[in-house]
Amino acid sequence: MTDQPSIDALAALPVSPQGHFIDGRRVPSRDGAEMETLSPRDGRALTTLAAGGAADVAAACAAARKAFEDRRWAGRAPAERKRVLLRLAELIEREALSLAVLGVRENGTEISMALKAEPGSAAGSFRYYAEAVDKIAGEVAPTAEGALGLVTREPVGVVGAIVPWNFPLMIGAWKLAPALAAGNSVVLKPAETASLTLLRIAELAAEAGLPDGVLNVVTGQGAVAGEALALSPEVDALLFTGSGATGRRLLEYAARSNLKRVYLELGGKSPNIIFADAPDLDKAAKVAATGIFRNAGQVCIAGSRLLVEDASHDEFVAAVARHAAAMLVGDPLSLASEIGALHSEAQLRRALGFVEGARAEGAEIVTGGARLMEETGGWFMAPTVATGVAPGHRLFREEVFGPVLAVTRFRTEAEAVALANGTEYGLAAGVWTGSLSRAHRMVRAVRAGLVHVNTYGGSDLTVPLGGHGQSGNGHDKSLHAFDKVQNLKSAWIDLG
Ligand code: NAD
Repeated sequence: MTDQPSIDALAALPVSPQGHFIDGRRVPSRDGAEMETLSPRDGRALTTLAAGGAADVAAACAAARKAFEDRRWAGRAPAERKRVLLRLAELIEREALSLAVLGVRENGTEISMALKAEPGSAAGSFRYYAEAVDKIAGEVAPTAEGALGLVTREPVGVVGAIVPWNFPLMIGAWKLAPALAAGNSVVLKPAETASLTLLRIAELAAEAGLPDGVLNVVTGQGAVAGEALALSPEVDALLFTGSGATGRRLLEYAARSNLKRVYLELGGKSPNIIFADAPDLDKAAKVAATGIFRNAGQVCIAGSRLLVEDASHDEFVAAVARHAAAMLVGDPLSLASEIGALHSEAQLRRALGFVEGARAEGAEIVTGGARLMEETGGWFMAPTVATGVAPGHRLFREEVFGPVLAVTRFRTEAEAVALANGTEYGLAAGVWTGSLSRAHRMVRAVRAGLVHVNTYGGSDLTVPLGGHGQSGNGHDKSLHAFDKVQNLKSAWIDLG
C-alpha cells in the first residue's frame, strides 16, 4: 500500500551491510574494504557497501565472460529470455514500495516522484525489451540472383554499465533491460552513493530465473571500481550515464585498453523556450517550474534555462517564481513533499555556489537562493529563480544539477534559437507556442536530442533519449537501445 504509515514502517528498517553480487552470490570485497553511505535526509550513516577494487571487477568480468561463452543465457531462445525478464518485471512491481523507499533513503528524491520514476519505470523497461526481443528479425539483403546476403544481430558479449545516483533504477534498467534481453552478460557499477536498489534488482533477477554470472553488480568508487571496469579487456561495450568529465575518461580508458565501444549519456543545460503566443501561459509557467525543480533539479533533462520572449517576460517570470515558492520542500519520504533533498553536501554547496556566482555576475535572485531545514542535518535548498542571466554567465553555460533556474530574455525567434544553441550541450529542450509552423521550425533548429512542444518532460519509453553536442553519443530507451548491445553480422553466401 502506498500510504504514509507503510512508507514510515519501511523507512525504520535497518539496512544491513552490503556485499557485491558476483556469479549469483553476495560477496565482500577481496581485500575486505568497505565504504559508508549517508542519507541525504539527515546526513547520517545509512549502511556500508563493499568498496570494490580491481580484483573484484576482474572476478565479476570473468564470471560474465564465462556465462556468455558457455551460452547459458545467450543460447536460450529469445522467447525464453522474455519469460525470465517479464517475471523480473513482476517481482519489481511486487517490491515497488520497498524499492522506492530504499532508493530515497539513499539518494533523496521525493518519494512521489521516485515511485513512478524508479521501480515503476524499471519494471516498464524490463517488460518493453522482453516483449520486443522475440519480434525483431534479421534481414535478407537485396542481392543479385547468384548470392544470398543475410544480416543478423548478435549480442556483443560482456556489457559494462556505469550509472549515476539521480535515478539509479530507471537509468540502470535502461541499460540492463536491452542488454539482457539481447543475450549479453553484464557487469554493473552503480554510483557509490546509490547502489542499494540495483543490488536488490540483481537478487530479484536471480529469483526470476536469470542464470548465475549473467548479471553482476560491483559497488565501489568511480575512480577505482569504475576505472577498472572501463579498462577491462573482457568488456566489449561500455554503457555510461553521468558527467562529461567522467565520459571523457571512459573514452581514454577504451583507447588504452581494448577499444571497447563506449556509449555516453551526459549532462545538459536544456533551454525551455516560451513564446508570447503560447496557448496556455499559466500551464507553461507551472510546467516550467516542475520541469526544473522536481528531484531538486537533479534531472539530466531538467529545463534549467528559461528563455522568455520579451512581451511576456515579466508576467511569466513572476508566475514561475510564484509556482517555485509554493512547491513544498521537505522530507523526501513524505508523500506531501514536492521537492526532496539534494543528493550530497557537495551537491548542495555546488548549487549554492552557482547562486553566489550568478549574483556576482549581475543576475537577480527573484526567489530562493538559500539552504533550508539545516537543523535536520539534511541537504535541502529552496527552488531558486535567477533573472537577467546573460550568455557569458557561468549559470547560462554550466550544468548546476540542482534547483536553480536561469532566466534570459529574447526578442526574436532567431535570437531564441541562438540562445538555445549557445552552450556545448544538446540534451533536451522545450518550445511553447501556438503556431504549428513555428513549433516545427524550432524542433528543426534547436540542437537537442529531445524537443518538447507545449509540455516539458514525461516522454515515455517509445522515443529514444540521447544527446547531441557534448551531451552524449548513444541512445537509451526505444528499440534503438538495442543498437548499443548488439553486433550486426553479414553472411554472403554463393548460391553457385
Ligand atoms: P559522475 O560522472 O560523477 O558519476 C557517474 C558514474 O561514473 C558513477 O557510477 C561514478 O562512480 C562513475 N565514475 C566516476 N568517475 C569514474 C572514473 N574515473 N572511471 C569510471 N567510472 C567513474 O556523474 P554523477 O554526478 O553521478 O551524475 C550526474 C551527471 O549525470 C550529470 O551531469 C547529469 O546530467 C548526468 N546524467 C545524464 C543523463 C542522460 O540520460 N543523459 C541521465 C542522468 C544523469
